[in-house]
Amino acid sequence: MKITDIKVQTMEVPLLEPFRISLGVITHAKSAVVSVETDEGKVGYGEGSPGILITGENLPGTAAGIELLKKDLIGLDPTDLEAVYCAMKRSQAHASTVKAAIDIACHDLLGQKAGLPVYQLLGGLNNFIETDITVGINKPEIMAAKAKAWVEKGFDTIKTKVGTGIEEDVARIKAIREAVGSHVKIRVDANQGWSAKEAVQFIQRLNEYDLELVEQPVPYHDIAGLEYVTKHTDVLIMADESCFMATDALRLVERRAVDVVNIKLMKCGGIREALKINAICEAAGIPCMLGCMAEETNIGVTAAASLGAAMKNITRADLDCTFSLSKLPFKGGMQVEGANRLVLSEKPGFGFLGLKED
Ligand code: MG
Repeated sequence: MKITDIKVQTMEVPLLEPFRISLGVITHAKSAVVSVETDEGKVGYGEGSPGILITGENLPGTAAGIELLKKDLIGLDPTDLEAVYCAMKRSQAHASTVKAAIDIACHDLLGQKAGLPVYQLLGGLNNFIETDITVGINKPEIMAAKAKAWVEKGFDTIKTKVGTGIEEDVARIKAIREAVGSHVKIRVDANQGWSAKEAVQFIQRLNEYDLELVEQPVPYHDIAGLEYVTKHTDVLIMADESCFMATDALRLVERRAVDVVNIKLMKCGGIREALKINAICEAAGIPCMLGCMAEETNIGVTAAASLGAAMKNITRADLDCTFSLSKLPFKGGMQVEGANRLVLSEKPGFGFLGLKED
């Protein structure tokens, strides 16, 4: 099989409401959808969803990066995943959403050629994964009401955004815990909003609200700060923005700087790099979560869910961005069953059926 062309289409899908985190406000999913075409008539789909607050890329840049890759990728066999990945790395530094888009599409093609769903090619532990649901930053009573409504729909884990100030943040967690009761897990994501010492003080004050974990308490570059927080608190500490690539994961586990690592395809550049992160963490006894950008659609989430379902060391999922979309732009892929279960297609590849017509 050979790649004959790569087409890119950008789209922006409004969120049902603006989503606020400590770094800023997100209003739209933004996706560069790629179709990788082949000489056998098969087409693989992928997406690159830049979250400028996290990856530093924007949508025109992602689309332009994919266009630039064409000259390096046309003629390659898309199912030679390592060859494709090496060609992308030679062509562009970083550019993780560019690489993720192509990598997802090539996994789709590998599955189609093999006649197997991608989750099975990746290990096939399960054909589904259960996700938490995230509540954006707002007034405590609004966050509590939203959390309660999600629990009533059937979610058993609430992830809540914080990071604007210790007193406000404590009020938010208190309100959410009182609203959802003691049986619901609460994970907290500060998106780099605190210093290491603030984080330790904050987590000590929150002990009574029984947090499951705290995600990215300190700025992404402060690995010593992450290590300090992990060593001075009992709650699990998770890296998100501090871990883009496998090399970041290695640095984190060498220092025992975190207890859990959040893998996102849009940070690391696709499934191939994600597998390396997971392997490093698993060898160190550190479980992973599979997360998504708020800007992703059901293409990226299907790919992430396929990896998360397949691997034993991926014990948590934060793959909730499609619940915030005003419409699902793509046909096929994963389907939501019940409140929180993302069930993968049994069709070869990811089971994508193309863009919906407006
Ligand atoms: Mg995060």
